Amino acid sequence: MSEKIGIAILGSTGSIGTQALEVIENRPDYFDLQVLTAGKNADLLIEQAKKYQPNTVVIGDEDSYQKVKDALWGENIHVYCGEDALCQVVEATNVHTVLTALVGYAGLKPTIHAIEAGKTIALANKETLVVAGEFITKLAKEKGVNIYPVDSEHSAIFQCLVGEFHNPIEKIYLTASGGPFRGFSISDLQKVTLEQALKHPNWSMGAKITIDSASLMNKGLEVIEAKWLFNLKPEQIDVIVHPQSIVHSLIQFQDGSMKAQMGLPDMKLPIQYALSYPNRLATNFPRFNFMDYPNLTFEAPNREVFKNLDLAYRVMDELGTSACALNAANEVAVDAFLNKKISFLEIGELNETVVNETKNILNPSYQDYVNSDQNAREKALQLLRK
Ligand code: NDP
Ligand code: MG
Repeated sequence: MSEKIGIAILGSTGSIGTQALEVIENRPDYFDLQVLTAGKNADLLIEQAKKYQPNTVVIGDEDSYQKVKDALWGENIHVYCGEDALCQVVEATNVHTVLTALVGYAGLKPTIHAIEAGKTIALANKETLVVAGEFITKLAKEKGVNIYPVDSEHSAIFQCLVGEFHNPIEKIYLTASGGPFRGFSISDLQKVTLEQALKHPNWSMGAKITIDSASLMNKGLEVIEAKWLFNLKPEQIDVIVHPQSIVHSLIQFQDGSMKAQMGLPDMKLPIQYALSYPNRLATNFPRFNFMDYPNLTFEAPNREVFKNLDLAYRVMDELGTSACALNAANEVAVDAFLNKKISFLEIGELNETVVNETKNILNPSYQDYVNSDQNAREKALQLLRK
């Protein structure tokens, strides 16, 4: 390869961000790390900057700017802070691909800037497509920008599509582990604790997505993400619980043939594929052994108990800003649950109430999303105070 791929990692201190650094570290001949950013974790950002020597770092938290600046004095690394800087650094000419590994709505604005600047997007921040899928996919098309999925299920679908881009998809099956509360009844869920919800059986991830996995909101968000990534109708997307997390998702084509992508649950693989597509780079990641998994099982999700899944289908059907409102409500609810202010079941209840009470705006502009996010957050916070 003649030229290395310049990479910006938004959210380098998180679960996806740190794993992306491991991927990049393995192939200094292939990747050229240009930008690292963090929200609040100044210590880890400083450590990463010293080790990986990017061109630029951004710390979201303005109060930590001086600390980062002082620590990196003499390192020949540009240091910036705040949201505007986050949006500007992705536009740099030496950045080719932007890995969006921020969590939540905060990922939207920098992703828009990156698309406008013509950068390839490696999308981990699924909330971007949940909140503004209509707007983002239109903008990416206009700018001729590719969005490659990092989410393991969507990476699986994407990998199965290679060589098939001209063949229409009949339907896809997104697999779900079922999370720590698979098989629980509503009365079981009334008693679950934060500590239990944070223990995912198969994946180690950031706190927000771990709670979303336990409530099946994550799968709901992924259904919406899949709609926009692969241009599907709601009835073409199905969810199947697969507790072993080995089959990462499946496509069914018009002739009835199905393709699945499999492997051990390790995010480094989909991260690397999104950064190196269309190439597969050699790795020494642990390999799958059939004898360790004599049974791969599949079951239907319990939609009566895990109501977030149907709520996601509903807002996907409604289009407009409905999904944006659901995402905002869920961010507030998960934050309240993480701070032990509400119970596990109250997350879904809050989500449903906010969606029911928020006006849906069709064909939204960027400002409509901003307003809808803000209104839904305010509504959710009001309900929490009651
Ligand atoms: P983490 O919480 O582990 O990391 C989030 C990162 O974003 C951190 O670097 C954090 O900085 C930064 N950040 C958070 N809020 C802000 C903000 N307001 N401004 C600037 N930076 C901010 O999350 P994950 O890595 O688990 O997830 C990232 C995204 O990837 C999510 O959208 C998630 O749904 C998706 N995803 C994650 C998977 C996983 O295995 N973890 C799998 C599939 C998708 P700091 O810590 O310094 O404050
Ligand atoms: Mg996933």
